Amino acid sequence: MTKLKIGWAGLGTMGTPMARNLLKKGFSVHVYNRTREKEKELVELGAFSASNLQHLSQVCDLVVTMVTDDEAVEQVYNSSDGLLADPSPGILMIDMSTVSTQISKKLAKDCGDKGVRFLETKVSGSVKPAQEGQLVIMTGGAKADYQQALPIFQTLGKSSFHMGEVGIASAAKLCLNYFLALTMQGLAETTLFAQQLKIDTGDMLRLVNESALGSGITRLKSQAILNNDFSPAFALKHITKDLKLVQKEGMAFPLFIPLLASYQSASQMGFGEDDAISIIRFLDKMIPDFKNHESFEQGNF
Ligand code: NAP
Repeated sequence: MTKLKIGWAGLGTMGTPMARNLLKKGFSVHVYNRTREKEKELVELGAFSASNLQHLSQVCDLVVTMVTDDEAVEQVYNSSDGLLADPSPGILMIDMSTVSTQISKKLAKDCGDKGVRFLETKVSGSVKPAQEGQLVIMTGGAKADYQQALPIFQTLGKSSFHMGEVGIASAAKLCLNYFLALTMQGLAETTLFAQQLKIDTGDMLRLVNESALGSGITRLKSQAILNNDFSPAFALKHITKDLKLVQKEGMAFPLFIPLLASYQSASQMGFGEDDAISIIRFLDKMIPDFKNHESFEQGNF
């Protein structure tokens, strides 16, 4: 099982700890990252550095991609020197990036046209679960391909679901990230409102987390707020990207438009590279504007 030769493209915040876990488990891992120096840490742990993306799809049994967005996966798969330029027949590609259902279906077709198998596998959980192999994993695609990749999913995650055809796992991931964006917005607004009411922030967050409202994400982000640590476990620009994908899927509930506007404005104001809970810093800055009801009601913030 550990003899599988795995190719890994995309060594960002998530890709690096995930690929590291595969190495630790004894898989043979070939890595490629656009910014090549990010490969160094994994090469020191025993990974092979692939000369380019094509190399991955020629020497490996399967290739995992973990890059930013629709545009990035399109480039990684379909550019003239990309994964699908000259792949070995029957190889399995697994895209783990959070992307639209449309691009996932397109990639499945592009792969099929080249005699390549394709799974969309999406992950829930940020850096810590990625480091600890505790991600929640959801996959769309052929069941037989899912079974072949299961040892990898079992290494990266604590639970793994086969959900149906390609498209369904991307859709499920977008649903989760809508809830995540709402939860962080709610935690941030509640914290700031409590501060306005002169409640100690530590006390308020303890109450949230001890009550039925507490969750994995409120506990994690409460720590970030209390430590004033906004280094990116999940960058605010990524949740903004995901909300735009949610919009493309037809989300029409009443909180959605102000939620998207909030994260978009925070990104534009320079918080995009920081962790998504930086939404609290944006909201804090904007309190005087929110108190001006006219601009608030018009969504001008
Ligand atoms: P990240 O730290 O920003 O890393 C992005 C990776 O994509 C980097 O390796 C980057 O290469 C590569 N990339 C971007 N554009 C590219 C292109 N055009 N061609 C080739 N490579 C390209 O992001 P991340 O946090 O690891 O997230 C990766 C994906 O997982 C995103 O879709 C995100 O939404 C999703 N996700 C993230 C989390 C989380 O908590 N962070 C959790 C679940 C899912 P360079 O190093 O050269 O820039």
